[in-house]
Amino acid sequence: MQNILVIGGGFAGLNAALNAADQVGQNGGDIAVTLVSNSKYITMRPRLYEVNPEALREPLRPIFDAAGIDFKIGNADSIDSSQRTVSLQGGETFTYDRLVLTAGSQLKPLPVSGIAEHGFNIDSYDAAVAFDAHLARLAGAEETPGADTFVIVGAGITGIELALEMHTRIASHGGSAAAQRARIVLVERDDVLGLEMGDNPRPVIEKALAEAGVEIHLGSEVSEAAADHLVLSNGARIDTASIIVTSGMVASPIGATVGVDVDEQGRLPVDEMLRTQGSPEIFAAGDMARAYVDDSNLAVMSCQHAGTMGKYAGHNAARDLMGLETRAYRQPNYVTCMDLGAYGAVFTTGWDRVVEASGPEVNARKRMINEQLIYPPEATSREEILAARRIDENGR
Ligand SMILES: Cc1cc2nc3c(=O)[nH]c(=O)nc-3n(C[C@H](O)[C@H](O)[C@H](O)COP(=O)(O)OP(=O)(O)OC[C@H]3O[C@@H](n4cnc5c(N)ncnc54)[C@H](O)[C@@H]3O)c2cc1C
Repeated sequence: MQNILVIGGGFAGLNAALNAADQVGQNGGDIAVTLVSNSKYITMRPRLYEVNPEALREPLRPIFDAAGIDFKIGNADSIDSSQRTVSLQGGETFTYDRLVLTAGSQLKPLPVSGIAEHGFNIDSYDAAVAFDAHLARLAGAEETPGADTFVIVGAGITGIELALEMHTRIASHGGSAAAQRARIVLVERDDVLGLEMGDNPRPVIEKALAEAGVEIHLGSEVSEAAADHLVLSNGARIDTASIIVTSGMVASPIGATVGVDVDEQGRLPVDEMLRTQGSPEIFAAGDMARAYVDDSNLAVMSCQHAGTMGKYAGHNAARDLMGLETRAYRQPNYVTCMDLGAYGAVFTTGWDRVVEASGPEVNARKRMINEQLIYPPEATSREEILAARRIDENGR
């Protein structure tokens, strides 16, 4: 029996495994589909800025059991494309006929003295839960200098969403008086906020931050971090017990073991079938893949792109192995929806991120994305699960 191996059980990996199994089933292939992930759960990463992060993951095994996918827990370490093997930490090795790499991304390390020891982040489930436990400890602790100051390092989408959620987060542990006392500081090394969102939504974002009283330091870097303070590049000291790093994401390091050049975000270059250039039996999707969504735009690290790319990667890996026609990945419609806390949310369309709506009227849409759209299908029957994740009539 041949086999398709998927590494990583996130948004891309789940869809890849389901689409591979679907194609194998529909075409009578004698092919096993195995997914190896280092967690039993899929983490709702886009929600990790919210209150109660402990609730923000869902078990994968019921879905894979129902869908007939072999699910193994393990941390993939390296790939040998000449032998078609993947080695796991601990020594176990898996062979593959087609490999789909969907191990996602990690927080981009910030090379600043003291950050690794004293900085928090919300990049993974464990990190977000640890930060929440810190907020709970602060709420019960004696008043110390800096206890009410929360410094977020990096004003990208995640940093801005977190800054605008901080009052709610603090109130959830220490009550509204603690939230009112809180000083929320956003430090950004660029000269503008939300660089990756572009110019169009910036006025809305700035208004939301101003209304929430967030203190902003642009053109500033952290040069030193400690348990009770940090120092900015201009020499200013901020007393704080809470430094939260939102410095962006880099692709899983396992991509670099394939042996082809990865881009500056650590992503594997893939062709329109999502095959890794130079290793056609290895597909990549989601945050690990440098893929074009149309003739000129590259996918960004997002659920929007990871989920759809995952579908195509699984679909194509299975069909390629069975000698069937594959389907080019295209995802021309791009939207963003950003939570702006008490201000509401902002919804943009297109690569120029033209603001279509902002304020409380966008809240329902953001909730629908965060609480429904990104969630895995119910673990019902194999047919229902597979149907829920097929490439739809719009090619998504
Ligand atoms: C705080 C935060 C906010 C975000 N907000 C948004 C947003 O508003 N909108 C949006 O679209 N995107 C957002 N993102 C980005 C989005 O979460 C990612 O782009 C998305 O999760 C990528 O999906 P993926 O399947 O490629 O990777 P992931 O979701 O990271 O999944 C990777 C999976 O692989 C597993 N894994 C990792 N390494 C290994 C290994 N070596 N071996 C085995 N398994 C492994 C992991 O446990 C995980 O299950 C946000 C991310 C964060 C952290």
